[in-house]
Amino acid sequence: MPETKGKYSPIPTLSFLKNGGEMGELIRKKDWASTAMGNMEHWPQSLITTLNIILHSKFPMFLFWGLRLICFYNNAYRPSLGNNGKHPFILGEKGEDAWPEIWHIIKPLIDQVLAGGEATWSQDQLIPIYRNGAIEDVYWTFSYSPAIDESGKPAGVLVTCTETTEKVKNLLLLEESNDQLQFAIEAAGLATWDYNPGTNKFTSNARLKEWFGLNNETETALGQAINLVADYDRVRVTAAIEKALDFASGGNIDIDFCITNAVSGNEMIVHTKGRAWFDEHRKAYRMNGILEDVTEQAKSRKKVEKSEQRFHAAVNAIKGILWTNNAAGEMEGKQPGWAALTGQTIDEYKGYGWVKAVHPDDAQTTIDAWNKAVAERKTFIFEHRLKVKDGSWGHFSIRAIPILNEDNSIKEWVGVHTDITEEKEQQQILFESEQKFRLLADSMPQFIWTGNAQGNLNYFNEAVYKYSGLTAEQINTDGWLQIVHPEDRDENIKAWLHSISTGQDFIFEHRFRRHDGEYQWQLSRAMPQKNAVGNIQMWVGTSTNIHEIKQQDEQKDFFINMASHELKTPLTTIKGYVELLQSYHQNSSDNLLITSLATINKQVLAVSRLISEMLDISKIKSGRLSYNKQDFEMNELVNEVVTEIQLIKPGQEITFCKTGDTLVHADRERIAQVMINFLNNAIKYSPGSNKVKLESIIKEDEVIISVEDFGIGISKKDKDRIFERFYRVEGKNEKRFPGFGIGLFVSSEIIQGHGGKIAVKSEPGKGSVFYFSLPLNNKG
Ligand code: ADP
Repeated sequence: MPETKGKYSPIPTLSFLKNGGEMGELIRKKDWASTAMGNMEHWPQSLITTLNIILHSKFPMFLFWGLRLICFYNNAYRPSLGNNGKHPFILGEKGEDAWPEIWHIIKPLIDQVLAGGEATWSQDQLIPIYRNGAIEDVYWTFSYSPAIDESGKPAGVLVTCTETTEKVKNLLLLEESNDQLQFAIEAAGLATWDYNPGTNKFTSNARLKEWFGLNNETETALGQAINLVADYDRVRVTAAIEKALDFASGGNIDIDFCITNAVSGNEMIVHTKGRAWFDEHRKAYRMNGILEDVTEQAKSRKKVEKSEQRFHAAVNAIKGILWTNNAAGEMEGKQPGWAALTGQTIDEYKGYGWVKAVHPDDAQTTIDAWNKAVAERKTFIFEHRLKVKDGSWGHFSIRAIPILNEDNSIKEWVGVHTDITEEKEQQQILFESEQKFRLLADSMPQFIWTGNAQGNLNYFNEAVYKYSGLTAEQINTDGWLQIVHPEDRDENIKAWLHSISTGQDFIFEHRFRRHDGEYQWQLSRAMPQKNAVGNIQMWVGTSTNIHEIKQQDEQKDFFINMASHELKTPLTTIKGYVELLQSYHQNSSDNLLITSLATINKQVLAVSRLISEMLDISKIKSGRLSYNKQDFEMNELVNEVVTEIQLIKPGQEITFCKTGDTLVHADRERIAQVMINFLNNAIKYSPGSNKVKLESIIKEDEVIISVEDFGIGISKKDKDRIFERFYRVEGKNEKRFPGFGIGLFVSSEIIQGHGGKIAVKSEPGKGSVFYFSLPLNNKG
């Protein structure tokens, strides 16, 4: 390039520079002569033409010209060079000097073009340049094309470019914010979806696909996703989508539903929020939103709902209603339970208005008790009557508790009114029936009393107080035993405790002290009242005055005793004379005399036996029956008795089956008396049979003697009583078989007096087996 010739050259008159703006002026003013370009006047036409195009273009352009690739640029390019940078000094500079920082990037492109290659095209390429006092990242979209000279060869490179730094930076920012959005979505665990109503395609992020179990295709038909919504939610979800797609709805969707994963079958509850976008025809062209996993929240919400439901169910189950009052005890806000119960409106019950529903007789006590509970912050427990919705009165029990704030102040009161009308009515019915029972019991002359399961007496009818002259308080304080004769108390307690512990009926004769101090005999009976499962609930007892009967009995006993004694002496004399006559006439041929004497003897024996038994009774009564015990073989005694009876009743077929040694220590006479009694009865009560079977068996350390007949037998009800004194089976047989009902009573006393047992097994019409047992004397 030629050296600069002269320090300053006059302004060239080249017309193309005239309208070249700032750059035209700078080119014009530049002292080209002192540069390698040389004086402008010598510039080739091709350069001038090219510059002409550049300077008049509104598109940013740069030119590298000549071998040294001298730099030119137009006004449109100028802003890309910034301030305090390359402008204006690179004008006319060698490319290499002007762009040292990017020369390595652009030089190959320049070379390529100069070598006759194709024009280049680079888009949004980062080419950092020095401007504004520093190296800046600048993005360009540019094309390098050849600038042809007169010879038709590339003499320079025309760079048509546009700076895209703003656009690229915006794009980067967008990308960044998109990344951030994705990150936020990721961090929030959200799924996203996008629906195109035009194509019915549904796209979603990976998370949504994972939740739904959709495979990784980018698009799905909406129906495919909807199919995975739980059956019971599907209609609702479809309706919500349709609604959002309708411009009139505002386009929003906000709904919870359950989905079932297509692969695992797992269920989850999701919440989606989104909106539809509408075109100018109000037609939705897109709808998108997010989806959130709310399974846990839904579960815990369900739990709370369930526990609330349970709570309400519990309140309903106790026929109750729930209400709340504020800390001051006033009713506030909606109280659906109270309104439904009383029919009061919110305005009627608010504050203390609820008291108006309370029965006028209960209102003041209710207010007083309520105010007290509120003041003392204590649980409110009360009962009152309320006018219910249909206008009737109902009985209610109330329980209200204060709910406290963290600072222990009262937040509110929560109360329940429970309907106890039915219970109250039942109580009333019970009360009335009890009144009736009391009236009935009090009008009876008999004593009526009740006791609890433990045997403590807790009720006596009026007759008891009237008879004893005691007050209820006196009996309560000092007990009922005080009216029982001191001599009867121990036995009485024993018998009563026995019944309480075994549940057996109580039957006892004892004397009760009358108000005048006189004791009178009573027969008391009590029966246990049992519940459905058989547990004793209470005892109901009666005491009947048997004083007169007792006295008559005593007189009878006295008479029998006297009569027996009086009869015994003449009878012994008769017996003595009969025996004397029998021995005197034992060889007589007078048969009539012999048999007559034998008959007299037999009858005398029977009468004297009867008299002995009668005497025994009075001995038993006075506890004077004594035993003269000795060792003897029981079986031998049985044989002797059988022989004796056979003599008197020769027609009887009596068999005796025995085993082993039967040594006993007993009163031989008395045991013989029992045997004779059993045998006589067996014969007497068997009119159609002459068979009697005897047996002696040894069981452990006792001997059991049984006497079996095949006679009339005994009914169940009589079996339990035939061992009682004077008990005889009533009915047609009573006259047919004469007797006094003494024999078995005496026998029973004798056997019990020997530590043995007496019993009977029998069936009417089939016969009876009477048993007694005695302890064996194994000492010897
Ligand atoms: P008595 O025979 O004198 O009436 P007991 O005390 O010996 O008195 O008997 C009481 C009652 O028991 C009798 O009246 C009779 O009804 C019944 N009895 C006793 N033994 C038998 C028997 N072997 N078969 C049927 N009934 C009997």
